Amino acid sequence: MSQDWDAGRLDSDLEGAAFETLAVRAGQQRSPEGEHGEALFLTSSYVFRTAADAAARFAGEVPGNVYSRYTNPTVRTFETRIAALEGTEQAVATASGMSAILAMVMSLCSAGDHVLVSRSVFGSTISLFEKYFKRFGIEVDYPPLADLDAWQAACKPNTRLFFVESPSNPLAELVDIAALAEIAHAQGALLAVDNCFCTPALQKPLALGADIVIHSATKYIDGQGRGMGGVVAGRAEQMKEVVGFLRTAGPTLSPFNAWLFLKGLETLKIRMQAHSQTALELARWLEGQPGVERVHYAGLQSHPQHELACRQQSAFGAVVSFEVAGGRDAAWRFIDATRMISITTNLGDTKTTIAHPATTSHGRLSPAERANAGISDSLIRIAVGLEDLGDLRQDLARGLAAL
Ligand SMILES: *Cc1c(COP(=O)(O)O)cnc(C)c1O
Repeated sequence: MSQDWDAGRLDSDLEGAAFETLAVRAGQQRSPEGEHGEALFLTSSYVFRTAADAAARFAGEVPGNVYSRYTNPTVRTFETRIAALEGTEQAVATASGMSAILAMVMSLCSAGDHVLVSRSVFGSTISLFEKYFKRFGIEVDYPPLADLDAWQAACKPNTRLFFVESPSNPLAELVDIAALAEIAHAQGALLAVDNCFCTPALQKPLALGADIVIHSATKYIDGQGRGMGGVVAGRAEQMKEVVGFLRTAGPTLSPFNAWLFLKGLETLKIRMQAHSQTALELARWLEGQPGVERVHYAGLQSHPQHELACRQQSAFGAVVSFEVAGGRDAAWRFIDATRMISITTNLGDTKTTIAHPATTSHGRLSPAERANAGISDSLIRIAVGLEDLGDLRQDLARGLAAL
């Protein structure tokens, strides 16, 4: 009944294939059933033919699965596909975006090392460094994302890792990744980029000189608000260490979520293009509305780093933030007056979301820290989904009318 498929052939057929092709085909290994879609291997362990076979597999003398904390075929397919899309040797899947950052630092840094993290990163990332890594003797400083001189000046002899998000959330600030990679490398440090907001469909940090890419697959890689997951990707030399940590500590990706993300990757490029197109139209429209004081979106000519964004990204992503006249009360009135857009701080979904960063994602910062991060009380962030542009404009117009 079943056929033996030559798995190797599937890969060699993809030599030189384009992003869109890799997104639907890379990494697939057919089982003897000859299924067309990617198989979902819901199994925690694997059987061996004989006791000697088990011993050889445990000793690493013959390849093969042992236990799903170590390897799982569905997870491996996802890892191979992401590595192909980021254009690198290896990707390692994790249980969430946060566990990707945890695994990277735990496997590549030690007590006494110094890490530079851009000031405007995801809130939990700052907590992870401040509350936990510092307790284990890792020194951390936070240079402003775009200021290359500040990164240079913050380097110490023990600086091992630079970590940035570009573009930043919610203000869409960028760093010149190629220039920052040069500074890191001159220092003997690695540059890691959280590529969550762009995904490899819009930005390839490794091709620009970064060493490691981090993802929250929960966001645009899934893209449909269904599952949690993360990725660390880069050269085999570093990924070997990340794999070692994950196998031992255990925050590995569930095969079910890997299967969801494989389906997400198949439509990643067309989704990211659609998100970006609608976001750009909305950003331009918002910029012309009375009551809107400033729009932050790298696709706008008015964005101070628009030229860099055009060089470094193929489009500008889904996240648009803007300031309205009238402070917090006006921002809240705007948000409450919308009727379709979801009031939630999440992003990376098909459904457009709206949030007030100063009292949600950045609410735990002191007023001075918020001011320093550029998060004013009048700032609203939207993460544009896949709904119709006209319907979104109509809903945002309700917000404008409430100002
Ligand atoms: C959401 C997010 C994370 C954390 O990912 P989880 O999957 O929620 O753990 C990290 N970085 C960025 C930029 C994010 O948006």
